[in-house]
Amino acid sequence: MKTGTIAIVGRPNVGKSTLLNQLVGAHVAITSRKAQTTRHRLLGIRTDVDAQYQFVDTPGYQTRHANALNKMMNRTVGQVAGEVDVAVMVIDANGWDERDDPVLKLIPANVPVILALNKIDKVTDKAKVAELLGAASKKRDFAALVPISASKGTQMKALLYEVRKHLPEGEPSYGADDITDRPERFLAAELVRERIFRLLGDELPYSIAVDVERFELDGRMRRIAAVIYVDRPSHKAIVIGEKGAALKRIGTEARHAMEELFGSKVFLELWVKVKGGWADSDAALRQLGYK
Ligand code: GDP
Ligand code: MG
Repeated sequence: MKTGTIAIVGRPNVGKSTLLNQLVGAHVAITSRKAQTTRHRLLGIRTDVDAQYQFVDTPGYQTRHANALNKMMNRTVGQVAGEVDVAVMVIDANGWDERDDPVLKLIPANVPVILALNKIDKVTDKAKVAELLGAASKKRDFAALVPISASKGTQMKALLYEVRKHLPEGEPSYGADDITDRPERFLAAELVRERIFRLLGDELPYSIAVDVERFELDGRMRRIAAVIYVDRPSHKAIVIGEKGAALKRIGTEARHAMEELFGSKVFLELWVKVKGGWADSDAALRQLGYK
């Protein structure tokens, strides 16, 4: 039996969280078309007969806005990369991009790095895949190069095979049914945030945080009350929408995602509150679980 931790790193939007979910077989990490959906480090656990894989999803390393939240996220990436047995660095099927350079720099020289060229479902010319991998291979002495499609699940066996080579012998530290180190309460808040990322305009999601205030088991049913914190009163109006339509849709879709993940009925109540400047306040970040 082999057991170890694997960092999944890469710039925003290359498909790290999608890959983690595919490898774990459940929607534990939230994903969206927008960059910076992932704010927290999260473990996704997969247990096979011969290995337990503990994948660490990380926020994409980014340099756009220098507020306290983003500085914290960048620190997380650096810390994780130094603590793992192996790293899977994900890049987009367009090939190596200069924005991939700073990510690679964060990984210490003694950590083996597997390069995953993701979204190959978008590439029709297969000769191109080999060409892109060849070009990327000059960037570091990678332990392996694996073309994948995280969303379609293509080449997951090949990737796991390469990862397993670098894991130490050892007994599993999590149960065979565990899929993450995060409590359901955290996953519930994230699923609300995911809906906001997917349903609301371009800038708004970045100024939003979600806090689960109540999480109770009522038989097999989960009763959950969550607050959506926005930066400004005008944002509150957008999240609620005309006659409450936007908030209703966020709630319905988040509830369905929770019911699938938890395997039970969910009763979800959502509130919207204004909390100005939360993304740049250390106290607010702590309260919202970012520290
Ligand atoms: P992250 O920021 O690196 O965690 O990226 P996400 O996992 O949130 O994915 C970003 C976007 O890329 C989402 O819209 C995903 O659906 C999409 N995506 C991820 N993997 C694939 C893939 O293999 N093929 C295609 N076509 N899209 C993908
Ligand atoms: Mg992500």
